[in-house]
Formats: sequence, structure tokens, C-alpha cells
Amino acid sequence: MKTNFDFLSPSVNFFGPGVIEKIGERAKMLNMNHPLIVTDKFLEGVVDGPVAQTLASLDKAGVTYTIYDGVEPNPKIHNIQTAKELYLAENCDSIITVGGGSAHDTGKGTGIILTNGEDITQLAGIETLKNPLPPLMAVNTTAGTGSELTRHCVITNQETHLKFVVVSWRNIPLVSFNDPLLMLDVPAKLTAATGMDAFVQAIEPYVSTNRNELTDGMCIQAIKLIEGSLREAVANGHNVEARTKMVEAEMLAGMAFNNADLGYVHAMAHQLGGQYDAPHGVCCALLLPIVEKYNIIAAPERFAELAEIMGENTEGLSTRDAAELAIKAMRQMADDVGIPRSIKDIGAKPEDFPLMAENALKDGNAFSNPRKGTKEELIQLFQEAYDQE
Ligand code: NAD
Repeated sequence: MKTNFDFLSPSVNFFGPGVIEKIGERAKMLNMNHPLIVTDKFLEGVVDGPVAQTLASLDKAGVTYTIYDGVEPNPKIHNIQTAKELYLAENCDSIITVGGGSAHDTGKGTGIILTNGEDITQLAGIETLKNPLPPLMAVNTTAGTGSELTRHCVITNQETHLKFVVVSWRNIPLVSFNDPLLMLDVPAKLTAATGMDAFVQAIEPYVSTNRNELTDGMCIQAIKLIEGSLREAVANGHNVEARTKMVEAEMLAGMAFNNADLGYVHAMAHQLGGQYDAPHGVCCALLLPIVEKYNIIAAPERFAELAEIMGENTEGLSTRDAAELAIKAMRQMADDVGIPRSIKDIGAKPEDFPLMAENALKDGNAFSNPRKGTKEELIQLFQEAYDQE
């Protein structure tokens, strides 16, 4: 548990049904005269969807803009290079991202190479950015990654298939918008994957070596909210209350890991995402019970507490048995929302495991994992995630 820490979050966070209407006014306040809107073709095409509502508010405030609609899931270096060229060609002065983690990370990555040098691979790591990014606002449409409020920018090198992270306080958007009404039409499968990402982002900081009292509180509340609302959000996407609780949870989890960091689930999920271009939340969910079972011996009491937080009855159980119950509850959640069981389902191949294990140990998320693993142990964890039926 840390007692000396910096606590990072965006300066303003607009939360709640209908807050998207405020974006035009806020762009004016920030002197954004010509933002680059960073999004994808699907969201751009949704009638009255998140992009349409963002543009309507900007139009009303008299803000002109240019749209980059080339965001891909697991954004690649070429995405940020194209967005940067458009930004310069159209004389943009700021960035507004509209979408999930991929849109926000593309916007952050574009900002990074505009002001900190063209080769983003050289900037991977912690606090490598010397210059501020252009003013950045994030309209979030998944619950979710938390990227709309974090200092992380996750990009994939399309040549090496390596997913890497640029972690810097300069990446944190100035303003973020979390409007649950923008998420009502997220399909069930995507709700499950993104919700499981938020779940993992509440669990990993709870057992992280960099946790503190503030992040503990955020993790506990996020886990309770997810336990109480993710299944319903998957089953009935138009339930505004369930969607609202999931957004609250993803924000709490985002703030928690922004300040307490993550662990091997994310370090290994980045390898699966980079290698097989698989959805990030699914990669995290597939690894969660296996990695956390491995972690139990490093923090058995914390895992026993997690079981209680997840609503399990631990009365009369030994610490170890209670900790095992937490792993069972994690697996149950993934099963209930329809996550597959094996990484075979996302195309994983055992011959890739040695290199992926080596790279996972170098990933920025690995250092705060409670148990310090070896390459051989991580190969074994990938293998277990592969063999799991
Ligand atoms: P995503 O942004 O990749 O979006 C997935 C799909 O969902 C897209 O096709 C998009 O069009 C669609 N979509 C988004 N919003 C929708 C809506 N409201 N309705 C219907 N469809 C919608 O998914 P994600 O899980 O939000 O982001 C994953 C990415 O974020 C990964 O690259 C991951 O590594 C990264 N990530 C970043 C951070 C961070 O702090 N920077 C944290 C965790 C994950």
C-alpha cells in the first residue's frame, strides 16, 4: 500500500444522461476553433448517434471541424500518422475523440506525434513526453476502458504486432464526457467485452503493488457496481439504470488503474491483442481467472476480500478457500456474459507463447503485478488459458 502518491484525473468530467449537449460550449471555453474529430466510420454513420450528437452541439456553438474516421480497433501506428497529416493539412488546433478506447488512444497518439516527435515507438514507457499535446476532449461511448480519463495511450505496431503503451500525465484529456444514453445501442457482445475490461481494471489495481487507500475505495465500489449491473446491461441494453451504473463503474476503475496501475492480465492481454488483433476486453476476460489464481499466494487476504466484495459468502472459510471463491466468481461473471473459455477462440497458437511471455514481462503493466513471474511461468499461464475448456 502506497502512502505517498500523485493522484491524476481529468480537470473536468461531465457525467450523466444528456451531458453531450455541453460539448460545443466547452469547446468554445477551451478556444478550440477547429478540432480534429477522431472516430470510426461505423459511429460516424449512426443516425443521431454519438458523432451526430457531438457535431450538432459543435454546430450550435459555431465551432468548425474536420473528421478523421479511420480509427480501427487496437489502433495502429499508421492510424495516428494519417490523422496527423489530416490535422496539419486542415490547420486543426485541437482534438475531440468520439468512441471507445480505440478512438481515445488514436487521438492521444495523434497528439503525441504532433508535439513529441514522429516515432511513437521511441516514446513507449512511463513519463517520456516532454511537450504538452494539443487540447484534447474525449466523448466516451463504451463502458469500458477508462481511456477517456487515463494517462495511457495504447498503440499497436502493425509490423511487429507489438502493442505498447505510452504512459504520461500529458495524455490525460482536458475534459471527458460520459453520457450513458450514447451507450444504449452497444451490442450485447461488445457490452460484455468492454464491461469485463472494466471488471479487470477494478480487480488488478486492488491487488497491485502500487495501490493506495483512494484507489482501494474506487476498486471496491466499481466491482460492486459491475456485479450488480453488467449482466443486466448485457441482457437488456436499453436499461438506462444498468448502463449508468456501468459508466460509473468504468470511470471508477479507470481512475483506480490510472493511479495504482494494473498487472499481468493486462500485460499478457496486450500480447494477445497485438498478435491476433482480438478485442481487448475479451483478451482480459480470458486471462483473468488464470492469472489471478496464480497471483493468490502473493496476496491471499486481498483475494479473500475480493470474494466478499463480489458478494460471495466467505463465512467460516479459510483465507485460501475464500480467495479461491473470488476466482470462481470471476469465472462465473465471464461465463454469464458469454465470454469464451479458451484463447484458442481468438486464434492463439502455442508456438507464439515464448515470445509473448517475454514481451509481457517487459510491458509497462507487468511491474505492479503482486507476484513476480518468470518467462516459463507466463508461458505456462498462456498454455492454461489455451487448454481451458
Ligand atoms: P473499441 O474502441 O475498439 O470499439 C470497439 C467497437 O465498438 C468499434 O467497432 C466501435 O465502432 C464500436 N462502438 C463503440 N462505441 C459504440 C456504441 N456506443 N455503439 C455501438 N458500437 C460502438 O473498444 P474498447 O473496448 O472501448 O477499446 C479497446 C481499446 O482500448 C484497445 O486497443 C485497448 O488496448 C485500449 N485500452 C486503452 C486504455 C487506456 O487507458 N488508454 C485502457 C484499456 C484499454
